[in-house]
Amino acid sequence: MAFAPLDMLQQSSLASLDAADSSPSSTPCRTILVTGGAGFIGTNFVYYWVKHHPGDRLIVLDALTYAGCRHNLSPLEENASITFAHGNICDRPLVEKLLASENVDTLIHFAAESHVDRSIAAPDAFIRTNVVGTYTVLDAFRHHWNHRGQPAGDRFVHISTDEVYGSLSLTDPPFTETTAYAPNSPYSASKAGGDHLVRAYFKTYNLPTLITNCSNNYGPYQYPEKLIPLMTMNGLHGKPLPVYGDGRNVRDWIYVEDHCRAIDSILNKGKPGEAYNIGGETEIANIDLVRLICKHLDEMAIALPVRPVEQLITFVEDRPGHDFRYAMDATKLRTTTGWRPLYSFEHGLRETIQWYVDHSNWWKRLSEIKTDV
Ligand code: NAD
Repeated sequence: MAFAPLDMLQQSSLASLDAADSSPSSTPCRTILVTGGAGFIGTNFVYYWVKHHPGDRLIVLDALTYAGCRHNLSPLEENASITFAHGNICDRPLVEKLLASENVDTLIHFAAESHVDRSIAAPDAFIRTNVVGTYTVLDAFRHHWNHRGQPAGDRFVHISTDEVYGSLSLTDPPFTETTAYAPNSPYSASKAGGDHLVRAYFKTYNLPTLITNCSNNYGPYQYPEKLIPLMTMNGLHGKPLPVYGDGRNVRDWIYVEDHCRAIDSILNKGKPGEAYNIGGETEIANIDLVRLICKHLDEMAIALPVRPVEQLITFVEDRPGHDFRYAMDATKLRTTTGWRPLYSFEHGLRETIQWYVDHSNWWKRLSEIKTDV
């Protein structure tokens, strides 16, 4: 992988839309700009893509905020078909230069500020990155697509969240793609703003955009402020396990690799202008999930300062505007592409906890670990 300062980026001759097909899913080779590729889902996506589409070229653009880790992609350093560019999606000249110099045909937009609690404490970065940044890459891609002669196979895929739909009660049916947007946090409102811009660019300019709305992801490389890595790390260190309110809030969980496979299916089989829900079919109350993490940690043959870990559970004041329940109806994705989640929650969760136990070097390297409230 080349770690390229902007002025060293060179024209790539490795891939073109009509290049020979070498990918397992029989799709044409692509040159993909991946924003936010050093974050949690972005990192997993890059590994997934290299494995399943070895003929494609990837350009990773990431600002390396607290949530982005350059070392995540170190094992790919020797891979000549990946370039890493350190920069901000709000930097229009940089985005334009990357699109043009690499002759990008596909943009997968992960880059975002992603933590709800941080959005409540300080919303400004969320508006800048999730709204203005999304506008910047979207509009730069539109001009680039026009310049390329509007090829039919080009795609802009915007990665979004179930949180844009707001909150459900226990008896409500799951969100569908026609559920009205009702975001309740600065994070979800900023993501909704990005979604609306992407939709508008299809309606107004016919830009071939797709939107994905996914439920809570879990897996390796997730910054330990999110529930599963936070509880795992605190359990490992004998620190309190902070649970908001009474812990009855319900989330749907999906293993990150299943999400990456869904994006692959949507990129190659989805219809431009459409949005697709992605869900893991695993609804669980936060408190039940935390107890499950405690059980897994207890069962692992590792030194723990406190055992059983469940003693560490501490209920804390609820998050303001805390959505009660998210649930996704992914029927449209299933029927359009044949995708379905392959990981069982039990298996994926155990693997994930084991990954954090085995990768203490990874989380020790992170500059700003928040392991308590
Ligand atoms: P993350 O916070 O782990 O990673 C975000 C990445 O974006 C980081 O590498 C960060 O450095 C980069 N970034 C932030 N601001 C940037 C900017 N201005 N310019 C360039 N790079 C910037 O987030 P994640 O959990 O991997 O989420 C990725 C995407 O998926 C986000 O758009 C998020 O809204 C969406 N999503 C996440 C989940 C989830 O459960 N994590 C669920 C559904 C959708």
